[in-house]
Amino acid sequence: MITVQKFGGTSLSDEVGRRHVLRHISREREAGRSVVAVVSAMGRRGEPYATDTLLEWIGSNGNSLPEREKDLLLSCGELISAATLCSMLNNEGIPSVVLTGGQAGIVTDGRFGFARILRVEPSRIEEYLAEERVVVVAGFQGRTEDGEITTLGRGGSDTSATALGAALGASAVEIYTDVDGILTADPRLVGDARPLPFVSYEEICNMAYNGAKVIHPRAVEIAMRAGVPVRVRSTFSDGEGTLVTNAEDVRGRIGWTDRTVTGLAHVRGVTQLAVETSAGPSDLQLRVFRAMAKSAISVDFINVTPAGVLYTVGDSDAPHAVRLLHEMGFSPRVQSGCAKVSVIGGGMNGEPGVMARIVEALTARNIPILQSADSNATIWVLVAENDMVPALQALHTAFGLHLAP
Ligand code: ADP
Ligand code: MG
Repeated sequence: MITVQKFGGTSLSDEVGRRHVLRHISREREAGRSVVAVVSAMGRRGEPYATDTLLEWIGSNGNSLPEREKDLLLSCGELISAATLCSMLNNEGIPSVVLTGGQAGIVTDGRFGFARILRVEPSRIEEYLAEERVVVVAGFQGRTEDGEITTLGRGGSDTSATALGAALGASAVEIYTDVDGILTADPRLVGDARPLPFVSYEEICNMAYNGAKVIHPRAVEIAMRAGVPVRVRSTFSDGEGTLVTNAEDVRGRIGWTDRTVTGLAHVRGVTQLAVETSAGPSDLQLRVFRAMAKSAISVDFINVTPAGVLYTVGDSDAPHAVRLLHEMGFSPRVQSGCAKVSVIGGGMNGEPGVMARIVEALTARNIPILQSADSNATIWVLVAENDMVPALQALHTAFGLHLAP
């Protein structure tokens, strides 16, 4: 049996964390399982080998590095981390070997900076596992068919881990991080957020797509397709964390799946654009969205009315979007500094009154809702960024998420 363990940046940034990492690896080996350890770069922004630090370093040098070479540099953070762990394992008498993403068999397309995994060829890992070695794999990276080094974009190590888990037929993928699993909301913003012992792939995918960065949505999709259970847990404790599995499995364990609200997520840095016309029915909508699509600006919160359109874009795309609208002869109303708050739960479909409770909770705190939208498993509200944290807190309480299930 194989366990893939992924260790995030904060788990590896200091000696204390790295000792815990050793402990988790040893425990799996003592339980008779083979271990593949996928590592992120050590630490967060500001620390010497963190990915953000490498990016800032390039930026401070005029940012003239081509994309291919940028990926070469970015892939180093994980290699330093992997070599550090290998040396610690060897010190403990645990034989190990380090592989780059490419050497581990992760083959990607050639989109530097956000490459997609095409397939995984795990034979080299399997050979080392047969020799009873721990295989330490540099996360967040792969190689193209031609052997070029690529990186996978944000949350890439999560994706490396579940892709390897799927290819190896691992019995579990464990994502070790700095919180006790997947919580009902980001614990940095909502003090009484509570760990969820079990969630379905669909629930966590929805949370991740809407901004919960504890695990990357692409990583969840890969695990879901392969049916590999994922456990998100803390490096720094022995808590069981959160088991992510299919809905039937969750139902078997807790007796039900369709909780009305599972959790909350948020995205900052959103700009709302309103384009109006008094000219009556026209092709305005079509022209606006064609122009956005042509410039690869992703749009959200789309409301189309006879009088015009209302939608949002990321703050970083906003100047470009506004310029395009002006070029088309429109005078858009622009509201920057907004945030998207998402209320997520598979059981809200058909449950009356969820939106009413959201409105009630936010109105009681004098938080204006700038826009809203919904699907069968999520309700989104757009609020001013300053209102985001109070909105999360109000909704968390309103839906009783602070109470044990
Ligand atoms: P790592 O470096 O281990 O990959 P990340 O920073 O990517 O760690 O993810 C862990 C962080 O995700 C936590 O510190 C927490 O602030 C944040 N987070 C956001 N939403 C959630 C949530 N619903 N549950 C748990 N953590 C969350
Ligand atoms: Mg992460």
